[in-house]
Amino acid sequence: MADPLYITMHPADNVAIVANDGGLPAGTRFTSGLTLKDKVPQGHKVALVDLGAGDAVRRYNVVIGRAARAIPAGSWVHERLLDMPDARSLDGLPMATVKPPATEPLAGYSFEGFRNADGSVGSRNILAITTTVQCVAGVVEFAVKRIKDELLPKYPNVDDVVGLEHSYGCGVAIDAPDAIIPIRTLRNITLNPNFGNEVMVVSLGCEKLQPERLLPPGSLAIVDQRKAGDEAELDVVCLQDDAHVGFMSMIDSIMATAEQHLKRLNARRRETVPASALVVGVQCGGSDAFSGVTANPAVGFCTDLLVRAGATVMFSETTEVRDGIDQLTSRAATPAVAQAMIQEMAWYDAYLKKGQVDRSANTTPGNKKGGLSNIVEKAMGSIVKSGSSPITGVLSPGEKLRDRGITSGLVYAATPASDFICGTLQLAAGINLHVFTTGRGTPYGLAEVPVIKVATRSDLARRWHDLMDVNAGRIADGQATIEDVGWELFHLMLDVASGRKKTWAEHWKLHNALVLFNPAPVT
Ligand code: CA
Repeated sequence: MADPLYITMHPADNVAIVANDGGLPAGTRFTSGLTLKDKVPQGHKVALVDLGAGDAVRRYNVVIGRAARAIPAGSWVHERLLDMPDARSLDGLPMATVKPPATEPLAGYSFEGFRNADGSVGSRNILAITTTVQCVAGVVEFAVKRIKDELLPKYPNVDDVVGLEHSYGCGVAIDAPDAIIPIRTLRNITLNPNFGNEVMVVSLGCEKLQPERLLPPGSLAIVDQRKAGDEAELDVVCLQDDAHVGFMSMIDSIMATAEQHLKRLNARRRETVPASALVVGVQCGGSDAFSGVTANPAVGFCTDLLVRAGATVMFSETTEVRDGIDQLTSRAATPAVAQAMIQEMAWYDAYLKKGQVDRSANTTPGNKKGGLSNIVEKAMGSIVKSGSSPITGVLSPGEKLRDRGITSGLVYAATPASDFICGTLQLAAGINLHVFTTGRGTPYGLAEVPVIKVATRSDLARRWHDLMDVNAGRIADGQATIEDVGWELFHLMLDVASGRKKTWAEHWKLHNALVLFNPAPVT
């Protein structure tokens, strides 16, 4: 059996987490001389010193709570022993105070990608069929299966066909101010780099979200340019069109339209492009106490490599960064960027308040079982995915990087922490690669971009050997450093983006549904 081991994140911390698989029994003595008073599960906290009632409990050199009663050294510090601090006020925050460390540009790295007319680069060559409303989802699903079976084999340079199905489009208060979020999300997903600027839409006909409202002419400048004639029109198959007699005529229309796009997509070839063309979205899900010790720091190291290579990286998950807002505003490149982040936090605080909850509604039973006592502790582990680079841009939910003129750097894309909503919003922002860390384990995947999954613990990587792409648990085992795993991830990204490697989620075709964030009323 491995020697008993605990991991401390900062010299000022007065708790550490137990690293050993299966946890450690009471009476275990560490090399430091500390002896466990209780059985402590893996990933859970042990008091390093005697704590008095009301004392600050520190991890990541941050107060994650106050001791609810006296806690002797060697005790299991579980969630019931911690009183959570209030969220930091959004007033008086440090603004752009951290001078970024001098870093060398990282040159010489490239991948094989699909160049688009708008300057973006795809990592896959996919035909996406946009839907305006949930009513058409079943028909599109039927058509997509036929397209894959009968047409796709004729166009070998096209990787896949994806129906962009969702639950929005009708029965909604479409003129409510916040309806802009789901509408622009769907619009911008349609324009994701992996779809080669090919746009085809399937509409019902009577829905509130009419095709021209979803994709007004100005949003399609690149697509329009390619079309012959002055009157560029959106390519729409409308199911209620009088010309459709019977279900099969609808399927025939969709297939005929799809084939025009498949022909153009099939003519595309991968080209060598600099690593700066990567647009990577990072997020975590099913987190445990190791997320902030192994996988997220390795992702953070890789984030810094990507930023140095001129790539774009976005981190998100508002409720999981809210408690570290002072760290983020101080890392903002300019006061304007810091102010934009505060605005996103304030919007989300108000959104949660309307639902009579706060950011503490985020933590799950699995998080707590994995050792994360509360949202403060979870947030500190989540933020490290963003590395140490200056934050140079902020996106509101559903916005697209290129619409804000952002083509490099570290960006905060405001999204809920919900895995599928965060992924959906990052797709809209324009990612061509997604990195997902997990401790409890999730088979999460997206049909639209490759998802690289990073396990926080070796035990998970062993059991889910054909679902996890990278094992960051080796960091806790002493088999690899944060830097080792960060570089491994960087090289894997270039391989996956080039199509040389597939992720496990791609291999098994595991896809989560698109989930549009709709804070506006439904009717
Ligand atoms: Ca998440």
